[in-house]
Amino acid sequence: MELFALNITNFKIDGGSMFGVVPKVLWQRVYPADENNLCSWALRSLVIKHEGRIVLIDNGFGAKQDKKIFDFHHLFGGDGLEEGLAQLGIRPEEVTDMVLTHLHFDHCGGGVKLDNEGKPALTFPNATYYVSRSQWEWAINPNIREADSFRPENLHPMMESGHLKLIEREGPLFPWLELRICEGHTRGQMVPIIEYNGTKILFAADIFPATAHIPLIWNMSYEIDPLKTIQEKEMLLREALQNRYLLFFQHDYMIECCTLKETPKGIRVDRTLSLKEFIAEKA
Ligand SMILES: [Zn+2]
Repeated sequence: MELFALNITNFKIDGGSMFGVVPKVLWQRVYPADENNLCSWALRSLVIKHEGRIVLIDNGFGAKQDKKIFDFHHLFGGDGLEEGLAQLGIRPEEVTDMVLTHLHFDHCGGGVKLDNEGKPALTFPNATYYVSRSQWEWAINPNIREADSFRPENLHPMMESGHLKLIEREGPLFPWLELRICEGHTRGQMVPIIEYNGTKILFAADIFPATAHIPLIWNMSYEIDPLKTIQEKEMLLREALQNRYLLFFQHDYMIECCTLKETPKGIRVDRTLSLKEFIAEKA
């Protein structure tokens, strides 16, 4: 199996919105903000090459939204989606499986692009696009709180393409890729767990956007059901600690991966490392 972290872009959003009820005096010690209260976040995907498949987990903002949205998110740096894949020697046509943890536009916007005539087309024309059924049904009739994040221009072309496959329940997608389903951040968020040379890697998606979100009550203000998020985090952290999982972070600007340890305050970060470092150690 070959694994690659793909940093599509970075962005900046308000630190307060990313740490909910945690006071700034506490969170800014571990996750610094600039003079406008903005913190830097990564938008990282995971690429898995295995058994003739090329699996991509999430695909970033995409490029088709209007400038206002991009300005509001202060995009900077990163390798780009198609450009980053090209650096790995992967053409969009070669991607076989597009796993979408959820349909907030920073996770799925890159899956649909505009063709030369301005018509929506799948970025990965030969891929199956996986979403949980509960997330899909939640997103196509969005509540007022999440409506801005669930954009019809991302969703409808996926459905119309015939490439959308709805996941009914938790379990293996492939023998080496399991999907868990969480409900606290949004309904039906899928959390992939990948088995790599005997170690499981938990793709932390938006349940642990960054290492700073490992403490149970350090959660984003976006959660639709924060108590559920806390329960789900507790369960996953316990399992990850007991089985020595590696956590892979999608949004942590400074840290790609970590392992966990038990402390008197609860489960916390043990070692931090990049995915490349982890792979080198496993070799
Ligand atoms: Zn989200």
